[in-house]
Amino acid sequence: MISFEEARTTILDAVEPVGTERIHLLEAAGRVLAEDAVAPWDLPLWDNSAMDGYAVRSGDCTTIPCCLRVTGFLPAGAKGDGVVVEAGCAVRIMTGAPTPAGCDAVVPVEETDDGQQEVTLCEPVTKGQHIRFRAEDVASGVTFLRSGTLIRPPEINMLAGFGMALVPVYRRPIVAILSTGDELVELGRTPGPGEIINSNTLSLAAAVQEAGCIPRIIGIARDNRESHLEKMAEGLKADALITSAGVSAGDCDLVRDILEELGAKQLFWKVGIKPGGPTAFALHGATPVFSLPGNPVSTMITFEEFVRPALLWMQGRRQVLRPLFKAVLREPLKKKPGKVQIIRLRLEKEGGRWYATSAGNQQTAILKTMVDAQALAVLPAANGSYAAGDEVDVHFYGSHIELESK
Ligand code: AMP
Ligand code: MG
Repeated sequence: MISFEEARTTILDAVEPVGTERIHLLEAAGRVLAEDAVAPWDLPLWDNSAMDGYAVRSGDCTTIPCCLRVTGFLPAGAKGDGVVVEAGCAVRIMTGAPTPAGCDAVVPVEETDDGQQEVTLCEPVTKGQHIRFRAEDVASGVTFLRSGTLIRPPEINMLAGFGMALVPVYRRPIVAILSTGDELVELGRTPGPGEIINSNTLSLAAAVQEAGCIPRIIGIARDNRESHLEKMAEGLKADALITSAGVSAGDCDLVRDILEELGAKQLFWKVGIKPGGPTAFALHGATPVFSLPGNPVSTMITFEEFVRPALLWMQGRRQVLRPLFKAVLREPLKKKPGKVQIIRLRLEKEGGRWYATSAGNQQTAILKTMVDAQALAVLPAANGSYAAGDEVDVHFYGSHIELESK
């Protein structure tokens, strides 16, 4: 048995980003930049006004109120060449218009009498005020986004501002999902005696998608060699393979043996984590194979703690672990030292601190507690039970958690 931390390190050391591709900026949200982005020009390209108002010489405005002659008008989109602010004069200017020669300040219209021929300024003027200076955001030649950056609306805005219609991103890995077991029937059929619906495939497909990858559903491998061989060979054609169930020490648990027969090299089996102990990890060539326990709660928790970080890494992401933060327990938690324990929690914020209560029965067979969990506590292997008032490390569970505010 290896530790939770060793298991994670082993996985993250073994996986690499898949290839890259160039895609249109419109498709790039949620993808990861695969090259540094270097500014081809200054942003902004020229000094321009930050306000609707008047372009002035600050030296003309030392005594307030002050009256200036209005000699021109510069709307947004005006080129501005040839327009000059002469001594004792002002040019009416709109937000975004290039500031004219001679001007070193813009006075917002709200601080004037809004005059057309002559304007009276009612507030003191500081040199440089309300001017956006050329290159003050990003100078030409500067790397403004590093390879590995997650592309969100702000990154899209900046890439668009620099005219970058096509962006190099990491390819989305294709992740094969294979369930195993004779008891499984596919969604759409009513389970007969001894049968259950193959819910793990659907849940894993959703989790794979939420992690930015493309799920490829392989179906069900039955509890015999031939079926496992056939389905696994198919699954190994993807960038990664996730199997569920058949990885414990039961008579019908064939996953690890068949993977070995197909040439996969097992890097570990059995991790000091509860739930999820029987998790195995192997490499088939460079293809990672995550063999998760079949109990749906264990499958989801081991996906969250081991597979999700790996899938993010395979997309070039650098921040692959959810950030941990402290929460105060409202109630005691039972735990034996020896394994990391993952506890499903609900969270509340009060007086600037997070407080946690159990999301329900923590037995691994209780799926409802998983549904109700907003966060997972990661309790270190060395620790025993916790008392109410103790602090624990937690991370949010899922990307769309809804927290009720009080
Ligand atoms: P196993 O590891 O094969 O012994 O399976 C562990 C438990 O998980 C058993 O109760 C299975 O019925 C259940 N299980 C296995 N595969 C799935 C699946 N695809 N969907 C839902 N439950 C499953
Ligand atoms: Mg089974």
